[in-house]
Amino acid sequence: MNALEGPPVGRFAPSPTGAMHLGNARTALLAWLHSRAHGGRHLLRFEDLDTGRVRGWAYDATHRDLEWLGLDWDAEYLQSERLPLYAEALGRLDTYPCTCTRKEIAAAIQDSAGAPHGEEAVYPGLCRDGSVLAGSDLNRPAARRWRVPERTVCVSDELTGTTLCQSLASEVGDFVLRRNDGVFAYHLAVVVDDAAMGVTDIVRGADLWMATPRQVALQRALGFPTPRYLHVPLMTDFRGERLAKRDGAPPVMALREAGQSPGRVLSELARSLNEPSFIAVPDEITAAELIPLWRETGHFHSMK
Ligand code: GLU
Ligand code: ZN
Repeated sequence: MNALEGPPVGRFAPSPTGAMHLGNARTALLAWLHSRAHGGRHLLRFEDLDTGRVRGWAYDATHRDLEWLGLDWDAEYLQSERLPLYAEALGRLDTYPCTCTRKEIAAAIQDSAGAPHGEEAVYPGLCRDGSVLAGSDLNRPAARRWRVPERTVCVSDELTGTTLCQSLASEVGDFVLRRNDGVFAYHLAVVVDDAAMGVTDIVRGADLWMATPRQVALQRALGFPTPRYLHVPLMTDFRGERLAKRDGAPPVMALREAGQSPGRVLSELARSLNEPSFIAVPDEITAAELIPLWRETGHFHSMK
């Protein structure tokens, strides 16, 4: 049986780098609704590989926030406890060491005719053929970059109905799978974990949409199935600016500690989604009461 035909397995995968804000909570809600509306399993996975950014208190704060909102989970994982899996996957991929600094990469891009596409600099392949960059320090610790496939990768999203095609070679370049400080890249860990955990449905923030072709390419190279993707639009504030922790978006923790009612917060989050069946939700609602409404949205994919 194709794994995508059985009951789904979904997950919420926060990075414990700070307090969960309303935008994260909305993604958490939708991911949970999607798993539960299908009678599926729901996992909580802390993406805590970048130890320099992890805040120890954030794990427990996230647990409490989710419990307060009534979003439960069936199993919990910490990426920091799964390093051997990422190392094994890395070993199966065609990677090469790279000692380039940001400055060297920027200079090489300047020198070549090609201007960087979009916001992200395309790695110009300085270390691709095993040559050591002239003048670079051999003793510098090396990152490992993946020699990306030449083929264009297309992905589609079941929530927005859009398709994105990317030529990794020309739009992204060989990207880092393990940083020079030994930290495995998020793209590698997420792909390894979703496959190992049998995740069939990825509901996450739209900020990761542009990274999806990279992850699908990794899935293919590693022989993993591609899950369904549903990217939740990012929540914007009243000025239309994206809510992020650093902009001082209200942390869920603050609302919880101030004695706000979770039912009100859930109601606001649901209404903000612009789903027709969510517009008329009452001022107070429980997460469980939202399940039948999520089924009505039609994003409840038919179990064909
Ligand atoms: N850890 C990522 C984040 O908090 C989410 C990764 C994912 O859902 O694929 O933005
Ligand atoms: Zn390099």
